[in-house]
Formats: sequence, structure tokens, C-alpha cells
Amino acid sequence: MSSDQVHLGHRARKRFGQNFLHDEYIIDGIVSAINPRNGETLVEIGPGLGALTEPVGREVDHFHVVELDRDLAERLRHHPELSSKLTIHEGDAMQFDFKQLLTEGNKLRIFGNLPYNVSTPLIFHLLTFHENVQDMHFMLQKEVVNRLAAGPGSKAYGRLTVMAQYYCKVIPVLEVPPTAFKPAPKVDSAVVRLVPYETLPHPTTSLKWLERVCREGFNQRRKTVRNCYKQILSPEELEALGVDPGTRPENLSIVQFVEMANYLDKKHA
Ligand code: SAM
Repeated sequence: MSSDQVHLGHRARKRFGQNFLHDEYIIDGIVSAINPRNGETLVEIGPGLGALTEPVGREVDHFHVVELDRDLAERLRHHPELSSKLTIHEGDAMQFDFKQLLTEGNKLRIFGNLPYNVSTPLIFHLLTFHENVQDMHFMLQKEVVNRLAAGPGSKAYGRLTVMAQYYCKVIPVLEVPPTAFKPAPKVDSAVVRLVPYETLPHPTTSLKWLERVCREGFNQRRKTVRNCYKQILSPEELEALGVDPGTRPENLSIVQFVEMANYLDKKHA
């Protein structure tokens, strides 16, 4: 057995995106960024062997965890310090209805070192709960944090950027090298804070159209806006919306995507 694959007696499962944190300095940095407090509704996704769960458990009396790996959930059930503090939801965070954890007057504070193989669809799933979430702190591939935080005109700017920034303020917190994990991933990592807006700054009248203009724009990044949208918007309509038909979709601001969506919604009403 390679020692890198086995951590605290558990063989890391690649299919569950298991890379366990073991760097105390980084762990401290993440827990300070989360700043967990008693009385909050905290939820950890993928507690694994407890690298973040243990220090958070020292700060609060109770919180929730969602873990897909049956063996790891079982270990947590018998954890000497944590078992009495945790409500363990054994299952897939991508299918999980986070609303069921809401209590009167408390929004959710979600955190986790996310399984990298599903991090993007998981973030899209979590964004659907934006109204019920106070904040989220996630360890992700650095490249995904760059996409979340990107501005128009950069390569990283895409569908994930627009949808995340539509709902949330995105704040990169910390960069993390592969050596902080066992086994070490092949890529650099970073921690990001997502804070959903209480009131959306640029609300769309149709999420469906917003998703469609993003999808069509970013599936054909090399095409001009005129060509991407030729089935749904004429060059005259684009110009009337203040969108240059000759530019690329990656140069459009979130407000411009929202304006296109709202116009299309009205046009097809
Ligand atoms: N939090 C631990 C740490 O920092 O060392 C483990 C992080 S590891 C990158 C990801 C964790 O998410 C693993 O415990 C894995 O079993 C769990 N996991 C993977 N896919 C999941 C899913 N779809 N839903 C919930 N947990 C999942």
C-alpha cells in the first residue's frame, strides 16, 4: 500500500474525490475564515476523516455533515468527540435538499473541502438554495476559484462565473498547495467565500433565458455575439440592448447577459 493513498487508516477513494487535508496551518486558516459560532446552522459537505470537522466541532455544540462515503460516515458516528455534536446525512450532496436543515431565523452556513470531480455541478446545485444561505466557504481547484471570481474579458470568465456572480459576492480567501493534502492532488487549490446577495443586484425576469444566453454564449466562445445569438437576437436588437454584435460573449458583463435574457423573456411572453 502506498502511504500516500492511506490516511488515518482509510484508503482514499478516487471516485469520491478524496484528498484529505493534513496541513494544520492551512486547516487553521480555513476554520478562521469560516469563523463558526454557536447558534448558527452550519453544514459541512464531505467531512471525510474530519480535518475541518474536528476543529469546527471544538467551536460549536452542533452541526450537520453530508457525506457520501458509507465507511467515512460510519467512522464519524463513532468519533469520540464529534459523534454527539453531528447530525450525519449519509448521501449525495448533489441530490441533497439543503432547505430541510433550515430552522427559524437562521440561514445556512455551508462549508467543505469539496470533491473536485463534482465541484462545478455541486456549486450549481448549491446556488439554487441562495435564498436560504448566509455564506459558503469551499476548497476547490484554484482554476475553479479563478472561474468563480473572473471578470469579463478573461479566459476564466464563463457560465459558472456569470451564474455564481449573479447570486453571490465571490471572495477568494486562501491559496493551497498540493502538499497540504493526502494524497496530493495534481493541481493547486484555493479557498473561496461565496456570499449570496440578500437582494439580487441585477435580477432577471427569466432564469431560463439567462441560463440559455449563457449556455449559447459560452458554448461557442470563439464566435462573435452576432453569430452566437443569430437564432434568437438580430444585430439591431443587440445594438438596441447596448451589446456590440462584433464582440465575443466572454466580453459581456453580467448586466448585459441579464438584459438580453429580460428582453427575450418579454419578446416571447
Ligand atoms: N473534508 C475532508 C478533508 O478536508 O480532509 C475530506 C475532503 S475530500 C476532498 C471530499 C469529501 O467529500 C470526501 O470525504 C468524500 O467522500 C466526500 N464526497 C465525495 N462526493 C460526495 C458527494 N457527492 N456528496 C457528499 N460527499 C461527497
